[in-house]
Formats: sequence, structure tokens, C-alpha cells
Amino acid sequence: MTRTRTRVSPPDQACVAAVDVARAAAEELARPGEPGEHLGYEAEGDRIVTHYFACQDRAYRGWRWAVTVTRASRAKNVTVSEAVLLPGTGAMLAPEWLPWSERLRPGDLGVGDLLPTPDDDDRLAPGFTEAGDDSDHQMIFEYGLGRARVLSAIGKDRAARRWHSGEHGPHTPIAHAAPAQCSTCGFYWLLAGGLRQEFGVCANEYAPDDGKVVTADHGCGAHSEAAVMPPPVEQAMPILDDLGFDLIEEEAGSVDESATEELGHS
Ligand code: SF4
Repeated sequence: MTRTRTRVSPPDQACVAAVDVARAAAEELARPGEPGEHLGYEAEGDRIVTHYFACQDRAYRGWRWAVTVTRASRAKNVTVSEAVLLPGTGAMLAPEWLPWSERLRPGDLGVGDLLPTPDDDDRLAPGFTEAGDDSDHQMIFEYGLGRARVLSAIGKDRAARRWHSGEHGPHTPIAHAAPAQCSTCGFYWLLAGGLRQEFGVCANEYAPDDGKVVTADHGCGAHSEAAVMPPPVEQAMPILDDLGFDLIEEEAGSVDESATEELGHS
């Protein structure tokens, strides 16, 4: 095995000594006196040295000025090649740039916004490929019916997982406290297609999930059979017996007719 030796040339002493030249270049970009202490230098190649200065700007904590100086062969003058501000250890940096399609989050779409779906969006598939059987294929082809794209198996699977683990699924406090599951509730309106086995829409205006897709094992206290209300009690009409009569004994001391005469009543 042969060893490859890399020749490392010593740093050019004229470039190493040109700290003031480098500082002046950094001050031209920053403010006079802003570049701080000299942090050291690094040899970049033959007669090329980069000097580092602390950045004292409070907006750029952890950054440092890097000024590269150089010297032509057999020349005495050292000149500035470039001066930049570089992030050092602990420097605050902007997050890595992401295309909008990766930054987008559910709920970001606003009124009037348009969200294009790419041609190869794996949540969608050409409509005719998702038809149930051959007769469906034939009808869609012949009559041009149906939508251009429909949910693919991947799209359905992702939606089902999202709904199941979301706040209308079985793992929520309201579902745990429910007297029974949605699958037995009269307000549970089944979805069409294969998703009907697991999902429906809550159609109870008093339930917090009204209008939402809920799982069959979700539930809430507004379940149709949770507490059957007793029918209202109707007040019966009083019964008047106008045929029979009761004998009531005359009380002692009642006023008789002769006494009525004496008192002047007719
Ligand atoms: S009322 Fe409650 S139990 Fe009934 S479907 Fe809606 S969420 Fe489910």
C-alpha cells in the first residue's frame, strides 16, 4: 500500500501579519469599531489566509467576520480577496428552506386560496381505475361519466387513519365517557362505499360532532338511546257526576225560613 503525501505549505507570513488590512475591510462592511477581537487565522492555500474577527452586533450573536487576504507571487502588498459574515458555534440561523408544498399544513388554506394537486398525487387515482367491477368500467368509458380523479386506495387509507386517530375517533375523553358507541346511535349516518364499515357522519345538532365524520366506535352523551325521556304526563279532566248526589247533614244553628222572614228577606 502506497501512502499519498499531501504537501502542506506554511501560512504566508505577510498575509498572517495583515490583520489591520483585514480589519479595515470588515469595518467597511460593518461599522467602524464593530468587528471585535481578532479570533485567529486559517491558511486557505499558497499566500491565501483568512482572518476571523468577533461580530459584536447584537443582531448577529455567534457570527464572525471572515476576511480573506492574499498576495501575488513575489509581490509585497497584501490585498483583500473577500470579506463576509459567517455563522459560528451557537449562531442563530434561519430554518432550512422548504418548498411551499412541504411547508403547507392542514388548515393553512384561506378564503380564495387555490391549492393545486400534482398530477402524481398518490392520494388520487383516475376515476375509472377505482370502479367496483367491469360493468362500472364499461359504463364510465362509454358515457364519459364520473370524475377525472377519485380517492386512491392510499388516499382512503390515509383519511381513515387520520379520522380514526383524530378528535372524532375512539381515543377521546368524550368517547370514553359516552354511554354507547356511534354505531348504535340513531343520529349516525353511514358513509357510502367501503368506508361505511367504519365511518359515518353525526347528524345530531346537539352533539359536539354534528356534521363531522365520526368513527363507529366514537360516542358522546347525546347518543339517541342514552336516556329515553319519559312521555309527558297529561292532566286528567275532573270528573263531574251530575246524576247522583250526596246527603249532607244539616248543621246545628242553621238559619230557618221563619227567621229569614223576620230579618226582612224574601
Ligand atoms: S350523537 Fe353522539 S353518539 Fe350519536 S352519532 Fe353523534 S357523536 Fe355519535
